[in-house]
Amino acid sequence: MKKVFLTATPPTPNGDLHLGHLSGPYVGADVYTRYLKMHNIAAYYLSGADDHQSYVPWKSKQLNVTPRYVANKFGNAILETLESANVRMDAFIRPETSKYHIKFVQEFFQKLYQEGKLIEKETPCSYDETHDRYLHEAYIRGKCPHCGAECDGNACEQCGRPNDCVDMISAVSKFSNHPPTTRIFKRLYFPLSKYEKELRKFYGSVKMGSHLTALCEKMLEDGLPDIPVTHISDWGIPVPVPGYEEQRIYVWFEMAPGYLAATQELNAMIQASSDVKSLWQEDNTEIIQFFGFDNGYYHAVLFPALFLAYNPEIRLPTAFVTNEFYRLEGLKFSTSRNHAIWGRDLLQKFSPDIVRFYLCYSRPETFMTNFVLSDFESFVRSELIERWQSWLQELSHKLVKLYGGKAPDLGSWHHRHHQFYQQIKQFVDAADTAYQAENFSPQKITRTLCELVRISHSFGREESHLISMASRQDEIKASISLELLAAKMLAILSQPIMPEFSINLWKKLGYQISIQWEENFSFIPTHQAINELENLFASR
Ligand SMILES: [Zn+2]
Repeated sequence: MKKVFLTATPPTPNGDLHLGHLSGPYVGADVYTRYLKMHNIAAYYLSGADDHQSYVPWKSKQLNVTPRYVANKFGNAILETLESANVRMDAFIRPETSKYHIKFVQEFFQKLYQEGKLIEKETPCSYDETHDRYLHEAYIRGKCPHCGAECDGNACEQCGRPNDCVDMISAVSKFSNHPPTTRIFKRLYFPLSKYEKELRKFYGSVKMGSHLTALCEKMLEDGLPDIPVTHISDWGIPVPVPGYEEQRIYVWFEMAPGYLAATQELNAMIQASSDVKSLWQEDNTEIIQFFGFDNGYYHAVLFPALFLAYNPEIRLPTAFVTNEFYRLEGLKFSTSRNHAIWGRDLLQKFSPDIVRFYLCYSRPETFMTNFVLSDFESFVRSELIERWQSWLQELSHKLVKLYGGKAPDLGSWHHRHHQFYQQIKQFVDAADTAYQAENFSPQKITRTLCELVRISHSFGREESHLISMASRQDEIKASISLELLAAKMLAILSQPIMPEFSINLWKKLGYQISIQWEENFSFIPTHQAINELENLFASR
């Protein structure tokens, strides 16, 4: 049986999830996993808490608590927010308590080291003399050597490319706000360029968007750099190599074996083989990864190269699904400046379905999009409550009045019935296409659903003029059967995005069986009892 592993970048537990986080990989991968599960595909959604990011101790310094306290507190908060957004992961790994994570990351690292795939280099590193601190990632800020945007150490969120800290322009230490000096340190490096040929081959097969393709090609053109995979720090997984006791494994190195360890943990949970050697290696296994473009280099360049180095038998991802930045009222979401709407706050006021639908509708797929609270509120009111709910209620009233609440037979069709039927078919095809990994677009799916509702509402209103005509009763039956078909397809097509609304509608349409995708869709059986199609959006 085919197995699909879906991953979403483990969030950093230095804060709760805001809408920017949710709109990207987390809701996206959940929608896709639910879509696959509706097709009876064994799909598993994996993520975890990225405890060992340097942003965790940085936050602990601000809060005057321990990094462990920060990682636990926000790791728990993140899980609660995902839960309340109905994001259902099959495994969410907490590195500290996982039976597999740290052990496997160290084994993976050691194997590469022993096989000579990591090299020792003495190189200049950024250093804060006043605070006597080695600087990397969260601890240093400056301009990206590739695109000139403001960025932190080791990678740029804007262009997605890695830097070496010492090559940053106008860099300052975040401890002292002074420009750093450089000191020579011995660290272990992973030479990416050794995998250039295999990466080129991989890019020929993996499905990904043009922005990410351009990033990969630019990096290949410029020559792939050596990446330091150990840093001087006391936070993170110890480097299992003598002489590196003061260093920790680079957290973005950790993520590659971390995904495999998550699979190992999942397999143990579902009682499949948890043998590391078989992970991601079986022929019928497919891997699809969801991440923000700012994490593009790690997933599309570093991780595949690490997997190739570790074991060329590991199946590399078949598709990368990326998103761009989501802005709040025109500005970047920022935890530190408190410019954020927290997922948990919005989810206390609105049902997860409504929040998920809007995040999909405005998802930053190929370019940055913007969340404005008043736009969200007016969209919910005018589209979901007024249009969707009105159409379904009107349909419901007609059913009760004309057929005692039971589905009529298909009646007799005229050209307008055939035309509406074709339209429903087109909406189903359009949504199905937008659900595929290679063109995954929750934006298109939600817009298609809105259009399906708009057209159905308009068709229903127009046909209502004939209700009082005794000679047209067979046509009315045809119209109402078609509207019921549209409502049924709405329940099916919206299931991955609005699971509660969908089940609610499905049950009210009289179905006892669980909801499944229908390749060849069928009409609601004649005489099936339909409940009143009201209160479909659970309120908060
Ligand atoms: Zn840049």
